[in-house]
Amino acid sequence: MKDIEKIIRPNIARLCPYSTARDDYQGPLGVFLDANESPYENGWNRYPDPHQKALKARLSQIKGVPAENIFLGNGSDEAIDLVFRVFCQPGKDNIVAISPSYGMYEVAAATNDIEVRKVQLGENFELDTQALLNASDANTKAIFLCTPNNPSGNAFSNEELLALAEAFDGIVVVDEAYIDFCSEPSLIGKAVSAGNIIVLQTLSKARGMAALRLGMAFSSARIITLMSMVKYPYNINKAAQDIVMKMLESPIDAQVAEVVEQRAMVAEKLSAMKGVRKVYPSEANFLLVKVDDADAAYDYLIEGGIIVRNRNKVAGCKGCLRITIGTPQENEKLIELMSKL
Ligand SMILES: *Cc1c(COP(=O)(O)O)cnc(C)c1O
Repeated sequence: MKDIEKIIRPNIARLCPYSTARDDYQGPLGVFLDANESPYENGWNRYPDPHQKALKARLSQIKGVPAENIFLGNGSDEAIDLVFRVFCQPGKDNIVAISPSYGMYEVAAATNDIEVRKVQLGENFELDTQALLNASDANTKAIFLCTPNNPSGNAFSNEELLALAEAFDGIVVVDEAYIDFCSEPSLIGKAVSAGNIIVLQTLSKARGMAALRLGMAFSSARIITLMSMVKYPYNINKAAQDIVMKMLESPIDAQVAEVVEQRAMVAEKLSAMKGVRKVYPSEANFLLVKVDDADAAYDYLIEGGIIVRNRNKVAGCKGCLRITIGTPQENEKLIELMSKL
């Protein structure tokens, strides 16, 4: 297991986290006069569980990793921010990230005053792990990757990612927001044992709970402890904890299967259209589509009532729209509009 002790920010390594009276004593209790809450029961008057024990126990069963290897955040975005706050010294350290990729890595880096060294993916968005290592130096605390990658849609092989984590002495963050739609298996098992891998997943995409804001990080117990020390104590509210718990009982397999099937259908139809230059292969619930004039196509679709993501100005994505796979009816409407582009 990789040793990450020496790359923790010194102030975090010294941190004594906020604790509650209910952390100090864990026996059977009936009268709660410790937290200055309202005593009048209305269903919401008590603080939520800061450790989200029930939810983590359920997710531990679903994901097949121990609860001590799971961090829950207010969306994956919280976990991304915490990687910076735990490991990166503002104004001094840097991270390496693939480009094009998810915009939040750069925003979180900027708010934490951390330099981002971007390494461009290949023409068809292939990964060059040696280029990532070459871009790193003694102050590089983390390498951020996303697989399947947003906005390109392709996935990287687990062997490549594991070899990178083996060769790199910092943290490798693997964002698996779209893993449910992907043929490559998740790396969460390796994240538990490697010591320097953090896998991010979310309930916002395939699980259909974007409004509830629940992101997950899977890593070594040590890294999960560090992230938990730095987070706000009550970062997941009780409404979210309770509703997620219930919604986890509804299977999503049929929905995921339908999206994957529709993805192939939409890709095939779009590929045959004259205004479409290329549909990139996708392992996610969206397609990156290169058209003759992306700005014009974007405006045209808006006029027809469909909003997509215009990626024309993103490095490596010139002429591209990112189109989410919708319901079969929505996809039909898209195809109909696009055929008249
Ligand atoms: C959508 C998305 C997320 C999800 O973020 P949440 O804060 O959990 O909603 C994370 N990473 C990537 C790459 C995404 O596209």
